Formats: sequence, structure tokens, C-alpha cells
Amino acid sequence: MNRISWDQYFMAQSHLLALRSTCERLAVGATVVRDKRMIAGGYNGSVSGGVHCIDEGCYVIDGHCVRTIHAEMNALLQCSKFGVATEGAEIYVTHFPCLHCCKALIQAGIQTVYYAKDYKNHPYAIELFRDAGVQTVKVEVEESFDPRSLEKLEYINGLIERLSNARSSQEEIKRLKEEAMNLFSSTPSQANGPRL
Ligand SMILES: [Zn+2]
Ligand SMILES: [Zn+2]
Repeated sequence: MNRISWDQYFMAQSHLLALRSTCERLAVGATVVRDKRMIAGGYNGSVSGGVHCIDEGCYVIDGHCVRTIHAEMNALLQCSKFGVATEGAEIYVTHFPCLHCCKALIQAGIQTVYYAKDYKNHPYAIELFRDAGVQTVKVEVEESFDPRSLEKLEYINGLIERLSNARSSQEEIKRLKEEAMNLFSSTPSQANGPRL
């Protein structure tokens, strides 16, 4: 049995959090970690109790949705709300932080930023991180924690169904089905995973 690495574990948590995002423009999740423990998490969304972009549409000014608080900010603010120190902590984010979040993360004493996807990586943010001695590390999400795997499985199943109604031979369909199943066999629990 393969044991999940810490990086994959915390990054998977951030991807789960991103599924809670209420903004249509981008779904971001962030997990603050200290001593291999998750101390806070956040996703991009409205102020508590406010209307959601997914219901009312985004409030866009100068190309940015101004309704939402970014995932990294929400995670840091959760720490401040409950009095949890962030000095020396690490953060796992689904996307490279924007300039504003970059400054907040540095100021909160975050030491390492792990991110899954490059996202408009601002040169000034890169410079600020470097000058502050904050490490930025790209963590590729392994296929087994792909939050879209269920969607993909459903796509494949639909494809097989369509093939069954077409001219393909039964043998070919059987082979395709086996190949598709093999794609997911290393993560048998994944069929139910993304519904968490
Ligand atoms: Zn929005
Ligand atoms: Zn941000």
C-alpha cells in the first residue's frame, strides 16, 4: 500500500477546499500547516453572510471580482480570528498567490508557499517572496487526487455506452472498458472520493 506524502495530503486538502469556492471566476483553496498539522483553511468566497457570486454573478471592477476574499487571506484571517500563530508556518495553495496575498503571507510569517498551478505569477510577488526568504515550491497534484476524476470516469462510461450502441465489436468494447478501469484501479476508493 502506498502511503500518501505530506505534500500530496495537504495539497489534496486545498483542492477539496477549492470545491467550496463561491466565485465563478476561479476556485482556489489554501491550507495553513504548522509542524505537519493543518491549522487553518480557506477558499475564495464572499464575506460571511454575504451574497455569493454563484448566485448573483461576480462583482467585477477592473477585471477583478471584488466581492470575494482570497483563499489565502481567508485562511490567515481564520488564524487571527481564533488566535493561532502563523509565524514559521507553511501554506498549500491550489494557485500561485496574487500580489496582495503574497504580501499578507510574508507579513504573517509564512515560510514556505507550496502551490499546485502557476497563475499569473506576478514578477513583483516572486521578488517579494525571494527578498523575504519565503520559499515557493511547485507541487504537482498526482492523478489519484485529481478532483475531476469522477467527472472523467463518468465521461469514459458515457463513451463506452455510446460505443456499445455503435458499430464497435463486443470484444473491442470489452477491451476499452478494461483499459478505462485500469486508469482508476490504483485508487479504488477514488470512485467515491470527489463526493466528499
Ligand atoms: Zn466572484
Ligand atoms: Zn490573492
